Amino acid sequence: MEKLTHYPMVIGGDLVHTGSEDLIDPATGKVFATVALGTVEDVDRAVAAAKQAQKSWAAMSYGERSAALMKLADALEAHSEDLAKLESQNAGKPMKLAIGGDIPFAIDNLRYFASVVRRPEGAASGEYVGGYTSMIRREAIGVVGAITPWNYPFMMAIWKLAPALAAGNAVVIKPAPNTPITTIELAKIALECGFPAGLINVVTGGAAVGEALCTHADIRMISFTGSTRTGKRVAELASPRVKRVTLELGGKAPFVVFADADIEAAARGAIPAAFMNTGQDCTAATRIYVQNEVFDQFLNRFVELTRSLKVGNPSAEDTDLGPLTSDTQRLKVHGFVEEARQQGIKVATGGTLPEGEGYFYPPTILVEASQSASCVQDEIFGPVIVVNRFSDEAEAIHLANDVPYGLAGSVWTLNVQRAMRMAAALECGTVWINDHLPIASEMPHGGFKQSGIGKDMSYYALEEYTIVKHVMFDITGDQKKAWHAVVFDD
Ligand code: NAD
Repeated sequence: MEKLTHYPMVIGGDLVHTGSEDLIDPATGKVFATVALGTVEDVDRAVAAAKQAQKSWAAMSYGERSAALMKLADALEAHSEDLAKLESQNAGKPMKLAIGGDIPFAIDNLRYFASVVRRPEGAASGEYVGGYTSMIRREAIGVVGAITPWNYPFMMAIWKLAPALAAGNAVVIKPAPNTPITTIELAKIALECGFPAGLINVVTGGAAVGEALCTHADIRMISFTGSTRTGKRVAELASPRVKRVTLELGGKAPFVVFADADIEAAARGAIPAAFMNTGQDCTAATRIYVQNEVFDQFLNRFVELTRSLKVGNPSAEDTDLGPLTSDTQRLKVHGFVEEARQQGIKVATGGTLPEGEGYFYPPTILVEASQSASCVQDEIFGPVIVVNRFSDEAEAIHLANDVPYGLAGSVWTLNVQRAMRMAAALECGTVWINDHLPIASEMPHGGFKQSGIGKDMSYYALEEYTIVKHVMFDITGDQKKAWHAVVFDD
């Protein structure tokens, strides 16, 4: 029998092979590799190594850190194809998305942080009180614990590592248990590029390892991306030590189509919005609200386009949707569809569990569900979308905002004033006008409401990984300060 590759942890610059978990190819349901399994002791060793490495890393100039990160970006780019293949097999991601989207975008993100760190922003130094010069220092926080999900394993690792390292922190990262490979490869490539041992540590495992990071005394910040449920637990565990926490959590993005929109563009835009990455995207469109006058026109075209999508082997060039990342996720997704059926909600296309190997699920459209139905309120995280109606702008705003989440949303209209009103009215971290999904390294990504706290990407993310210090200089040398008279008689 062919020996499977065993992926190690990366701790203090060492490749640590202890423990073993099977990794399953979601396209076949078969084990294709194994990965080391971390323990609480591994977390302790990783944090100690990170604490040690962080001091000299933080002491480097912005330019030196930037150069190191740029070198890493070049090395990752040189390994793009291998990384994309690993990501595709490990997460079931269509190869065209991995090689054309996730990997190059994540590398661009890394380059952005490598450059923007050289231009820190803040209040100018100056005399805010007479006789004193005040200045702001933006300092590294220390050791950051990063916890990532399985939907974009490599990109999420970069979204955490790039700003954290640029800001002068060291990181212990825990990838999702079923998709650790590209995070491990990233850390190994960083070592080959000359990154100091202990600066990037990868400890594998699930909740036990994640909780050990959240409670560790020497971890000053937890940067978490995952479900809202786990995010609440992370915040709870981090609070006794008052750790900084950023939470990028679930979403339930609305996609609002007004009668004055370009309906063909909206129907075409809804395809990637709903089904990219097999719908396992926190900003995916999940609730389409269409104004009554164009409801049938939009729905018919959207169903037609959806039926033309190709579900299949992620490595095939023409595959639009790969499998879901795990069978657990597929059964969860199908459970939502079954529940909708029982509630009398129409399934316009899809909704059947396919026969055969792999965790495939067809793109599925549910029609006219009540606003309180769980398919409208809860995150499904799969290729299932609901198409509902609305009558006017006020109702569209109410329905779009009437969920616990607030990560992203889109508005489709050719009326500029309406677009601007809707952009202001939607309670979410990103609003697209006449599109849905594109993101930019320079722009923030992060939620309102139960979609999270803090931002990924952009200068706002860099700020999350720094701590602000006010330094105040007496520039007079006077022993008797005017303000002393306020508290002392002489
Ligand atoms: P999850 O919450 O189950 O797991 C996320 C990570 O947390 C994993 O690494 C997991 O092992 C770890 N974890 C689990 N229990 C833990 C605990 N008790 N303490 C500490 N860590 C723990 O999420 P998932 O199913 O892997 O990912 C899908 C979710 O991620 C969706 O809700 C999606 O919306 C969200 N997501 C959000 C964004 C964003 O930017 N807002 C981006 C991608 C994914």
